[in-house]
Amino acid sequence: MKSENTVSAIHILDQATVNQIAAGEVVERPASVVKELVENAIDAGARSIRIDITTSAKEILNIRIIDDGSGMSPADALLAFTPHATSKITRIEDLHRIRTLGFRGEALASIAAVSRVTLKTRLRNAGEVTGTQVIVEGGKIQETGETGTPEGTSVLVEDLFFNTPARKKFQKSKNTEIAHIHGILEGICLAHPEISFRLYTNKNEQLVTDRSPRILDTIARIYGSDVVKDLIPLNLALPYMKISGYISHPSLARKDATRIMIAINQRYVSSTIIVGAVKEGYGTLLPKERFPVAFLSLEIDTEMVDVNVHPAKKLVRLSREQEIASAMSGAVKAVLLSQDLIPDVAAPSQIYIEESCRETGTVTAMRYDLTAPAPHGICETLHTGTAMTDRQLRQTELQTGTVPVDAKLPVMEVIGQLGGIYILAATDAGELVLIDQHAVHERILYEQVIARTEGDPRSQELIVPCILHRTLQETAILRDLLPALAQEGFVLEEFGRDTFLVRAIPVVLGKLEDTTMIDEMVSDLVSEEQIRSVNTRERIIRIIACRGAIKAGTVCTREQCQRLIQQIRFAKNPFTCPHGRPTMLRFSRSDLDVMFRRS
Ligand code: ADP
Ligand code: MG
Repeated sequence: MKSENTVSAIHILDQATVNQIAAGEVVERPASVVKELVENAIDAGARSIRIDITTSAKEILNIRIIDDGSGMSPADALLAFTPHATSKITRIEDLHRIRTLGFRGEALASIAAVSRVTLKTRLRNAGEVTGTQVIVEGGKIQETGETGTPEGTSVLVEDLFFNTPARKKFQKSKNTEIAHIHGILEGICLAHPEISFRLYTNKNEQLVTDRSPRILDTIARIYGSDVVKDLIPLNLALPYMKISGYISHPSLARKDATRIMIAINQRYVSSTIIVGAVKEGYGTLLPKERFPVAFLSLEIDTEMVDVNVHPAKKLVRLSREQEIASAMSGAVKAVLLSQDLIPDVAAPSQIYIEESCRETGTVTAMRYDLTAPAPHGICETLHTGTAMTDRQLRQTELQTGTVPVDAKLPVMEVIGQLGGIYILAATDAGELVLIDQHAVHERILYEQVIARTEGDPRSQELIVPCILHRTLQETAILRDLLPALAQEGFVLEEFGRDTFLVRAIPVVLGKLEDTTMIDEMVSDLVSEEQIRSVNTRERIIRIIACRGAIKAGTVCTREQCQRLIQQIRFAKNPFTCPHGRPTMLRFSRSDLDVMFRRS
């Protein structure tokens, strides 16, 4: 053994380093600062909370939270910055009785470890004339003293992550960070309609809620009064749990569950179990991939809720989880059953009837005029099924002439179509090929869009611009995406605080039959999952390809199938769709022989 080995290699980290490491868990981004400080204000019994964000062109410069809560004594104001200093619990058993949002005593210490914090506070109703000011920078107390300040507390956080450059570099664009702040605040506002929240960025008012006993007022403030008219109240009281709030009429359905907002004991949480239970309650009223909107507040016996699962406390563990979930889905089901859920539209004056012809594989739609004297006459025959497919095929039939010599696919002859989804074809070498028509067309479209030079977006103006309402969170994300969208042919214009006008869309998307499509495309884009996986242009192009391609379930004529197969032969990679799924399966004669045990 060498002599150095006698010197101990292990040492205990100094407190500043420990605090910085701990801060990494609690303070992930500016939105975490807002969350922790607003939660402290709520715990202090504030009735009104103001949040001010100041930004430069590129980043968030500082965050200030002002509340009219209990305030702190001079001694507490200092102690508050010590790790694990809290007024909210004293013993481990208290964890089972938690009603406050905080209890770990970590937030202030953590935030102050990675920024410069100026805290001003004065006790409420204590008759003090002055308050206390404490300045902490990088975990070190710089200044303490008396100061004039209103009752309550204000916390100013500057230079966030100044001493953790890696974390600072990791921050996304200013608008993405602001979007996170909106997202956090929307949840908190909904969980606390009794508090008035005001959010300003660079002194511009962004979000204001009034103190109200009704959560409906808060919902209207955040999501618009349009949403409110499609909400159905839900109330349930059980011995161990109370549920109150609103669920949406099935017509308000969305493509993801992001608007199922759940608060447990006034803590906004993410709970896949409860979200799943709400969705389950809708049963067959919603297709598998659609989700309702819901704002539900659960009051559950604190003994049954374990909030000490994660430092950010957004996850909770529930005992009797199954029981809670089935009570939830039962309640949703019962409420929906009691409603008249038939869409309230005027009787139609025309009806469309589709007929598909087995021999030719065409779908013919006929329009009947019901206002004409009986017997109702056919007023028009529309070849919708084939016409739409034809238009989609024409969009990608740009390449003409001979297939490149290095084509990866042989000549194929269509045998038929299966279930409006798969095309069966035979190669000249006698192989059987099963082709996913949507995936194949998606691939063709994708390669064509990507091959076009940027800045030649081929967009078409909409005759009537489509109006998109977004939440403030989505607005902030979308704002960042506008230039990239324009590059690909989407012309969106901001129109008021949380509204966009869609003026033009890429030509390949054809007519905008249905404005929900564009709404869903934007939701696809802003959902964060995808932000992480691939770059923005790639994401936009994938969405265009997916939406512009012939859908699964579309009956195509043999001629259309043949055209599609011809087009895929031009593709650089004909074998997978842009998401990596296979476009076709090939069975050689010998494969088939083996399967039939002929060989
Ligand atoms: P926790 O909230 O988990 O107790 P924090 O570090 O967030 O831990 O806060 C430490 C303590 O400082 C709190 O327990 C509370 O007593 C006090 N405190 C923090 N913010 C405020 C505020 N806005 N008003 C009154 N007291 C506060
Ligand atoms: Mg706290």
